[in-house]
Amino acid sequence: MRIVRTIAEVRAAVGDAKAADRSVGLVPTMGAFHEGHLSLMRAAREQTDLVVVSLFVNPTQFAPNEDLSTYPRDEARDAALAAAEGVDILFAPEPAEIYPDGFATTIHVAGITEVLDGASRGPHHFDGVATVVTKLFGIVRPDVALFGQKDAQQVLVVRRVVRDLDLDVRIVACPIVRESDGLALSSRNVYLDREARSQAGALNRALDAGEAAHQAGREIVPAALAVLAEAGIEPEYLELRDAETLEPVARADRDALLLVAARVGAARLIDNHLLTGIPA
Ligand code: AMP
Repeated sequence: MRIVRTIAEVRAAVGDAKAADRSVGLVPTMGAFHEGHLSLMRAAREQTDLVVVSLFVNPTQFAPNEDLSTYPRDEARDAALAAAEGVDILFAPEPAEIYPDGFATTIHVAGITEVLDGASRGPHHFDGVATVVTKLFGIVRPDVALFGQKDAQQVLVVRRVVRDLDLDVRIVACPIVRESDGLALSSRNVYLDREARSQAGALNRALDAGEAAHQAGREIVPAALAVLAEAGIEPEYLELRDAETLEPVARADRDALLLVAARVGAARLIDNHLLTGIPA
């Protein structure tokens, strides 16, 4: 595996692969790898010939009051894990390589970015995500880009950008990887102390309860909220939304996402379940 820092080096490596008719897979990440990240790398390894992983803690998607400066960083460990998954290129640029002086363009997706995490974290968040992902697509020119369903709204935003800007890349969403108690793996789980860690399992249990209520034809959101309340967690949001448009829905008679965000101890955590539509 090669670790490269410049756009020119990535372009050269990808150019060679494309000239040899090899397909290119991209896994965008912010590092601090866990099994969730590794599952994306494995899927990329299975589906494409040249696997590029980007490791970039993207400053523009953090609000001033968020955890940019404390976000966990360990490039040496990440590089070893990526190499063990058969990744070909780890692209780990400095911020100035991505945002040189004079950088002035923002990709803004309207509508679906204004709710849920867009409302909680502010509009800069998905602007930052859409802009950096579009840049990475321009730099790497992947045939396939892989994202985790853990960040369900992010997947929808990226799909919207690809459709609206006619980008020639196939987006693959991979299943959420969880701990044994159901907690979705996240780089931010390191912020959880013992008490918060045991509390955090309630997020997935709440979504399970919502899913069970859906299957039983009962109200979904109250069932999920009850589990959170019992665990002493007050969510930033817990909502049922159409799985494509993110419009609020009362029932999952079409595919719907049950999404939650909550502060647990020192971490802000998100999770979601896809509820398969049961026509009324
Ligand atoms: P991040 O480094 O947090 O930006 O995540 C990089 C990619 O890994 C994103 O596409 C995430 O959705 C994905 N990811 C993060 N956590 C998980 C998880 N628990 N299961 C599957 N994918 C994940």
